Amino acid sequence: MTSLTVNQHGLVPPGLCPNCHLHSGFAVPEHGFNSYIWPHPQLENPSVEHQIKFGMHTWLRQIPAICHHCHKTTVLHQLIRFHEDGKTGEVLRVMQVWPERQSRELHVSAPNAMRELFAEGARAEAAEAYRAAGAMYRAAVEELCKNLGAEGNGLFNKINDLANRGVTREIVDDLHEARLLGNWSLHDGLEFSAEEVADVANLIVEAVHILYVQSEERRAMREARKARRDAFTAGNP
Ligand SMILES: [Zn+2]
Repeated sequence: MTSLTVNQHGLVPPGLCPNCHLHSGFAVPEHGFNSYIWPHPQLENPSVEHQIKFGMHTWLRQIPAICHHCHKTTVLHQLIRFHEDGKTGEVLRVMQVWPERQSRELHVSAPNAMRELFAEGARAEAAEAYRAAGAMYRAAVEELCKNLGAEGNGLFNKINDLANRGVTREIVDDLHEARLLGNWSLHDGLEFSAEEVADVANLIVEAVHILYVQSEERRAMREARKARRDAFTAGNP
């Protein structure tokens, strides 16, 4: 669920700021902060080349990224495995350590059964259990179809039937993405990357926003208009 990445130079490309939730650019302080925290920099000879001689290939670097927009800091830990030359290597993982990551959840206007399945998927996603996450996100979509009264044999036809119930083609296609992720996770045992699973989770959040949150807002506005009209009529018999 980390939205920020770190490139090989220790720079943080533009991304979604975990503090202000806006797409922003990030500054990384050069000295003192952007540093290796393991192996410990105060070891007698902390150069990468020296450590590699002792078999220490995996390094942990701490990178603070300061948002251009809100000026708050996100702290990332980057795990790097160096090659024998001590200069090149690969990034094994990037972890967001601050602010603490929050599990995704669906808006309260989504059906409860769907919210529960989605929340369980989000917990699996946070634990990097991506196949389990894919399976739960698929189950959440199944619940959405049930709630909207979709009919048909199997989830494929049920999702297609949503088009007959006022759901746009775009959302139908997005929900098929979630169905496929779940199918491949469950039946074919395929592994997915963090980004692929995050994409599908975001598609579901987006679909819920359009199908439930916006329609709930429209209903509330309609009622407010009616209340105003009624009050007006009552005052002017
Ligand atoms: Zn920000």
